[in-house]
Amino acid sequence: MIKVSYRRLFLFQGFSHGTELSYLRSMSDGILGTSITYLNGVGPNRAKLLEDELGIKTYGDLVDHFPFRYVDKTQFHKIGDVNSDMEPVQIKGQFVRIREIGAGRKSRLSAILEDQTGQIELVWFKGAKWIRPKLKLNQTYIVFGKPNYYQGGWNIAHPEFELESVVLSRNLPALQPVYSTTEKLSSRGLGSAGIYRLMMNLMPKLENTFEETLPEPLRKEEQLTCLDIAYQKIHKPIDFNEVFQARRRFKYEELLMLQLLLVQQKLVNTKKTPGVRFSDVGDHFNEFYNNHLGFELTGAQKRVVKEIRQDVNSGFHMNRLIQGDVGSGKTVVALLGALLAIDNGFQVCLMAPTEILAQQHFTGFSEWLKPLGIQVELLTGSVKIAERRRIHAGLEDGSVKILLGTHALIEPKVKFMNLGLAIIDEQHRFGVKQRAKLWAKAKMPPHVLVMTATPIPRTLAMTVYGDLDVSVIDELPPGRKPVKTVHRTDAHRLSIFQFMKDEIEKGRQIYVVYPLIEESQAMDYKDLMDGYESITRSFPAPDYHLSIVHGRMKPEDKEFEMSRFLRKETQIMVATTVIEVGVNVPNASVMVIESSERFGLSQLHQLRGRVGRGAEQSFCILMTGTKLSSEARKRVKTMCNTNDGFVIAEVDLELRGPGDLMGTQQSGSMNFKVADIIRDQELLEQVRNKAIDIVDEDPELAMQKNTLIKKSIQQIMKHKKNWSKIS
Ligand code: ADP
Ligand code: MG
Repeated sequence: MIKVSYRRLFLFQGFSHGTELSYLRSMSDGILGTSITYLNGVGPNRAKLLEDELGIKTYGDLVDHFPFRYVDKTQFHKIGDVNSDMEPVQIKGQFVRIREIGAGRKSRLSAILEDQTGQIELVWFKGAKWIRPKLKLNQTYIVFGKPNYYQGGWNIAHPEFELESVVLSRNLPALQPVYSTTEKLSSRGLGSAGIYRLMMNLMPKLENTFEETLPEPLRKEEQLTCLDIAYQKIHKPIDFNEVFQARRRFKYEELLMLQLLLVQQKLVNTKKTPGVRFSDVGDHFNEFYNNHLGFELTGAQKRVVKEIRQDVNSGFHMNRLIQGDVGSGKTVVALLGALLAIDNGFQVCLMAPTEILAQQHFTGFSEWLKPLGIQVELLTGSVKIAERRRIHAGLEDGSVKILLGTHALIEPKVKFMNLGLAIIDEQHRFGVKQRAKLWAKAKMPPHVLVMTATPIPRTLAMTVYGDLDVSVIDELPPGRKPVKTVHRTDAHRLSIFQFMKDEIEKGRQIYVVYPLIEESQAMDYKDLMDGYESITRSFPAPDYHLSIVHGRMKPEDKEFEMSRFLRKETQIMVATTVIEVGVNVPNASVMVIESSERFGLSQLHQLRGRVGRGAEQSFCILMTGTKLSSEARKRVKTMCNTNDGFVIAEVDLELRGPGDLMGTQQSGSMNFKVADIIRDQELLEQVRNKAIDIVDEDPELAMQKNTLIKKSIQQIMKHKKNWSKIS
């Protein structure tokens, strides 16, 4: 017997209508393609409604409309146990009082239902005329609905209800599927129960209809129900175990097809795409490594440099992701990669998501590379035309070895003599398309190195980034002290200002960050300005100097303010999230985040990563209002409890789902019908290993036993021609 928690099966979270993998089988052939109008209970009107509201046109569409939860009608809650956290409940009792309260439009029908444990009010704001005659005192009713707490007591508004005797006589299944539907459909008798009735008309017609997509030996080995039975059971289960088995089969199928595509793709990319070869570790690399690095690489950095070395010397194209928490030292690894390219006669470009970050990389790279005499240039949107031309020329004649910049460097005008390596910093900020453009800049595709501080659990990274090889820098440079994080509200304002003064006294610098999620939101802008003013009042010149940076400023003004802060001419940087990524001011030791409940976890972690970069103890102060949603509370608590980016990423995923984490196209490919990439991680890993085994043994899926799988994959590819371009 498989143990699963009741609640978990009761409501399947992460349910979604659309799915890329609904193309898995053809729902338009044979009986599945039959128009829904031929089904008992569906006339022309209902057919049109079903199509308009749910996109259901055929038998196949209808059978693919899965229940999103099941109600166990054998279980009853005691009225006395009803509490706020409950999902819809089923209760049983007798009415002890029925009356209409108020008059006219504001009137309502109220009925008090009682069992041995207590009473609960059922209310109707509409339809009293029809409902009242159906409610009888002293008879047992079964009632289903979602309890609300209102004015000191529990009630259920517009519940489903029926006489127990009627329910018993109908012989309904113990587990009743609940289908998503719309208000319009419900009003025409196609609420969840109505859809269920249609489904019961349909299912007998579809026995032995579905073409199996998973080979029998595989199903045997992995104990997966066959497709026909899975469809029957998902709509008509006898118990939760059957639901579990049916769903497991669908999940397995979805995940396997995706993994096969990814694994195959990876094989194609790594084994088949030739790449330029950097065979020498040359003078520049050695000179820098031995004489100018200034610190010892961490073990993790050394390992990743070695992985890059192997890739670029393999004769095949490198497509590598470096994942490393904020401050783990990704930049210097990228620089070493760049030197490898240069030593072998190739040029390098590095693309950063913001102007400030590009500028900062430029400053860092210039300083590092000065003793080596390597020419570095910076290209951003604000570079003047004459300067731009000079850079373009230098790239084409090969005198410019390294080009840094924002997406200005993917413009068609930017041409290289021989680009060998493209580095992308903070990759989650760039769309897939932007990355693809870099490819077009060389005869042979340049090696690609992408860096991200958005940590993703390893299994997920494999899925999300599919064909990228993943390196992880899982070690911080020595001597770093974890940032101390606290949660405060407005009531603490004075003591926080005092604390800031003490830190400034010690020579430290401070960030105060405001949410400006949409740079155009006037309200946010006002908050920022009000905050700035209040800080100015508490930190007056000439003792204190403040910088302010926000998205509405011209790039050169931002640059100017940033550089003043870098030169320690100002002690407090009041800013919006423009400083979120990458910025490196080691002397800054305090990060105050205003209205931090409005930030996502990964953003908070990124922001906090701006401090704790020097040898001093650093602090992060999370300011919030006094009323917090439970999610916001969890985010703040997580931040206070850990500095570990991977732990934070796990919680983030749990709270948010994977969608936001990836580029748009990638998140599209994560859109499953039944599987849930977070909650099904264990299964995902199992399936992933199976996919690797299958492709290892039979890369083209040409073997007899893989015929079914190959057919499904072709089916998907037919509908999604650009599937192969997901990285
Ligand atoms: P991130 O991974 O967030 O991009 P950076 O590359 O900006 O981190 O590195 C953060 C800081 O750590 C920089 O000042 C960098 O010079 C320094 N650093 C990197 N590697 C080491 C190391 N092995 N030892 C000491 N300091 C290091
Ligand atoms: Mg960085």
